[in-house]
Amino acid sequence: MIGFVKKVIRNRLAGLGLVVLFGIILLAILTPLLPLAPPNAIDTPNRFVLPFSDNALLGTDHLGRDLLSRLLWGTQLSLAVGLAAAFIAGFFGALLGIVAGYMGGRTDSLIMRSVDILMAFPYILLALAIVAALGPGLMNALIAVAVVNIPFFARNVRGVAVTLAQADFIQSARLSGRSDISILVFELLPNVASVIIIAFSTTVGWMILETAGLSFLGLGSQPPQADLGSMLGEGRAALITNPHTSIIPGIMIFLIVMGINLLGDGIRDALDPRLAKGQLEKPSPLTRVSDGLIQSPPIVSTASKAVMDVNHLSTNFEVSEVVNKAVRDVSFSISSGECLGLVGESGSGKSVTALSLTRLVASPPGVVVSGSVRISDQELISLPYEGIRAIRGRRVAYIFQDPLTSLHPLHRIGHQLTEAMSTHSRGADSVFVERAENLLSEVRIPNPERVMDAYPHELSGGMRQRIGIAMALANDPDIIIADEPTTALDVTVQAQILAILNDLRQQRGLSILFISHDLNVMAQICDRVAVMYAGEIVEMGRASDILEHPKHPYTAALLACSPQIGQGRQSLQPITGMPPTGHEPLNACAFANRCSRVQPVCQQQPVEIIDMDSQLVRCLFPVVES
Ligand code: ADP
Ligand code: MG
Repeated sequence: MIGFVKKVIRNRLAGLGLVVLFGIILLAILTPLLPLAPPNAIDTPNRFVLPFSDNALLGTDHLGRDLLSRLLWGTQLSLAVGLAAAFIAGFFGALLGIVAGYMGGRTDSLIMRSVDILMAFPYILLALAIVAALGPGLMNALIAVAVVNIPFFARNVRGVAVTLAQADFIQSARLSGRSDISILVFELLPNVASVIIIAFSTTVGWMILETAGLSFLGLGSQPPQADLGSMLGEGRAALITNPHTSIIPGIMIFLIVMGINLLGDGIRDALDPRLAKGQLEKPSPLTRVSDGLIQSPPIVSTASKAVMDVNHLSTNFEVSEVVNKAVRDVSFSISSGECLGLVGESGSGKSVTALSLTRLVASPPGVVVSGSVRISDQELISLPYEGIRAIRGRRVAYIFQDPLTSLHPLHRIGHQLTEAMSTHSRGADSVFVERAENLLSEVRIPNPERVMDAYPHELSGGMRQRIGIAMALANDPDIIIADEPTTALDVTVQAQILAILNDLRQQRGLSILFISHDLNVMAQICDRVAVMYAGEIVEMGRASDILEHPKHPYTAALLACSPQIGQGRQSLQPITGMPPTGHEPLNACAFANRCSRVQPVCQQQPVEIIDMDSQLVRCLFPVVES
């Protein structure tokens, strides 16, 4: 709670709003205790006394009533009515929204169509109509303002509740046999609470204005009772001759509404950090490259025959002053038709490495701070956006872990496949369709014509991943980057997908960067393997060498905790401890604190990667088999 308040007032304007509002509310609460003149006592001989006079600090109105007293009592009334209206609207609106979103179907239609009917009227007209029907009076004004604001809450809350109602945690609550009421109250409500609070804080100012508006028109508070709106209304007749009678309540309304809105914005930003300044800015389509790197790109020999050459690539995440070095000085190359495996535990920087290659890391916060990525003869790190766009999907294609999230849920498979092709080449639709069907057969999808017409949710996980592969192949790329493509699949489907990738590699001479945390998968498909740890490559070499004769203690430890099918009962050795985060500088071997072979010298300096029998190892005391 204290943390939340701190977050809110970190926004200076919200802090100002809070102070102003707090002062006004305090005044309103203390009004009955203050030595004020009676607000309704008429004293016509002393009408229109100017502010700062002896007996009346803020002067008097057209009936000689003390304006200070009327202002404070009026503020109290306006705040109470406005807040009450907001609570009523918030309560019923949120209730309708939650129920409609959760129940769905006919209940949803019924509730939301009724809400739509309310929304169809201009709301001030609707409020006037309600007060006209109920008769003027403060209570009726309150009801009218509450009713016209219910749809706003209902719509907002229902929008969120509909999505949440399908969420897995709600489904599992249903499966556990809980009643609808208990799910609504204990599961759904806490998750929509922030929406309700945001809607509330952004509308309560409006509602105070609306009640004041009705009073101004004579439909709210009735004489002699003062609220801010009726004071404005009464002052209007003397606006030119005695402006202070309208300016004083006007300033109070201004302060209240400004205070609430500033505070409301602060609350909204604190509850939904994505809305805070800058965070919802359109992310850059290219990962930012640090200025120095653009000015002096690294000199890399272009003699190698590799399809892709990566040298000293480093990517940071920079969130305000905190720098997370997710990828440190990574170098590798992939030659034509080769499959390089990138293995390492979760968080070791595999995905960020893969995304950095075509500068897909989200920026902000991602920044490429050093290195070079070359495809054939083209340097990607300093390439402008148009150049990168021509490469993405065309020469470098990606396959992601969960195709359900990377496929568009509302387009048919055929459409998505042909779209991938038409982005990079021109041609007749029929040509693209034929090519798409061929691709589907190539990834061994039975019945391609039918699948072309299907939506992603109609297919199984394995089928979807094949579509993902077909899509990556759509433009006949030179290199495919597969980021944990089989992690979400079961073992038999995984084997099929690996077989497909292997065949494609042989038939098309495709190069693959294959990312996985599973060494057994690596063994099945990769020619060479690079092991990543804490953002660095710690060992790289031929797959068979690395998997059978690991030299780096980390690789050895990874192998020791990965089960081998068909090897009988084994005891698996978990690696104790946690990898270092990228926030600290590496002044030692990154693996030192978890390593079984650690020596004092390991803790004293970063370790360089060295070549040992054509295997690259970043270790001072590598495992050597006798
Ligand atoms: P993995 O090896 O499991 O693919 P990642 O490459 O996704 O790991 O992550 C490497 C590191 O980068 C992690 O420490 C992670 O917290 C950090 N990271 C990844 N994406 C972001 C992001 N968008 N913003 C900030 N940090 C990130
Ligand atoms: Mg990953």
